[in-house]
Amino acid sequence: MIRTRFAPSPTGFLHIGGARTALFSWAYARRHAGTFILRIEDTDVARSTPEAVQAILDGMNWLGLTYDEGPFYQMKRMDRYKVVIQEMLAAGTAYHCYTTQEELDRMREEQRTSGIKPRYDGTWRPEPGKSLPIVPAGMLPVVRFRNPLKGVVAWDDLVKGRIEIANAELDDLVIARADGTPTYNFCVVVDDRDMQITHVIRGDDHVNNTPRQINILAALGAQVPLYAHLSMILGDDGQKLSKRHGAVSVMQYDDEGYLPEAVLNYLGRLGWSHGDEEIFSTQQFCEWFDLDHITPSAAQFNTEKLNWLNAHYLKLADNLRLATLVQPRLEARGVMVSAMPSLEAIIGLYKERVSNLNELADAAEVFYIDLHPKAEALTQHLTPEALPALADFAAGLKDIAWEASTISALIKRCIAKHGLKMPKLAMPLRVLLTGQAQTPSVDAVIALFPRELALKRLATIPKI
Ligand code: GLU
Repeated sequence: MIRTRFAPSPTGFLHIGGARTALFSWAYARRHAGTFILRIEDTDVARSTPEAVQAILDGMNWLGLTYDEGPFYQMKRMDRYKVVIQEMLAAGTAYHCYTTQEELDRMREEQRTSGIKPRYDGTWRPEPGKSLPIVPAGMLPVVRFRNPLKGVVAWDDLVKGRIEIANAELDDLVIARADGTPTYNFCVVVDDRDMQITHVIRGDDHVNNTPRQINILAALGAQVPLYAHLSMILGDDGQKLSKRHGAVSVMQYDDEGYLPEAVLNYLGRLGWSHGDEEIFSTQQFCEWFDLDHITPSAAQFNTEKLNWLNAHYLKLADNLRLATLVQPRLEARGVMVSAMPSLEAIIGLYKERVSNLNELADAAEVFYIDLHPKAEALTQHLTPEALPALADFAAGLKDIAWEASTISALIKRCIAKHGLKMPKLAMPLRVLLTGQAQTPSVDAVIALFPRELALKRLATIPKI
């Protein structure tokens, strides 16, 4: 039974890298009919905030990354960690250490000057036959993990291949501070064990933690999960994503008018592939996703490709759904959407031409506002030769059947009568009705309007 988890630290929003980690963990569980767990690693109380927790939940919700268990909060599991620390002390896999901070600093300084890697010297580490120093009165100890001294710790990383670290490289890690609070790596280990995680899929900034975590798990007699460390994501320019540089919240993609399915599809291909497939539904992704096809090298973000995918998913999306996404965007701009013209119909006509929801809102906005086409556009397109045809067209529009086909026939009659080419009439009509020279087919655009509104906008044609 596959059990995966996403374990963000709530110190900021859910950014693109975190979202991809969450997606891969989620998809792996879905693929294998397993369980996906959300765990909030909020033990860094100075940096964790409830707003950041909410931002993570919002981001996951927007992407549709549903979790089967959790969210679990590490701060609520403190008692559990303390129990495990006591068990380890009792079992001799952890020990009290009374070395003071000053002693540690001095030790490190001496090691540095003699060219040795700084490490805890093991003063308080119990060994058979070794007598420990006398416990200093009134001092609270930290708890250290008794890391094996010899051999190697190794794992077959599902992305990076075999990784081996000599135990001699690893210090006896502090697992509880003097005030009793457990430390980061220890909480992760207890949780991964208690939550029976089978596959740890996470960013490769955690590779250095893994040997320590494996040793502690082994000391607890726990099954060691499989690890898949994902390489980082680089920005469009090949630079590392950072808070100052492109590492934006996934919710910003919502603000910018991306559809969640486009972002999911995009993230799915960011460092993973299934042959040459570029476009796949989330369901398809879950059926295909495996850990064998994750690229070990860094993946580069490509905004153009994301835009292309978004345009694709906009075309596929249901008009009513798009209308419910566009309407609040219009309202936020102070544009009131009325029943007529129908937002759904406008979207149906324009969604082929845009690459995000905000562009769709731009296109729809002109149908609802008190329109004042720009003077230059009017002078450019309302040419003296066009005016008689425009007047005829406006007159004809009063009593024809209100459909794109009859409107189109009327346009054709007017251009034939006045000996004009299509753009000579279509362009001024576009400008008068929408303020824009670029629109879908003008007959279809006119048909979106209620007749009265179209006539009202055409009533501004200068008299000849
Ligand atoms: N809390 C860690 C982070 O946000 C992830 C820990 C893990 O996945 O093991 O980077």
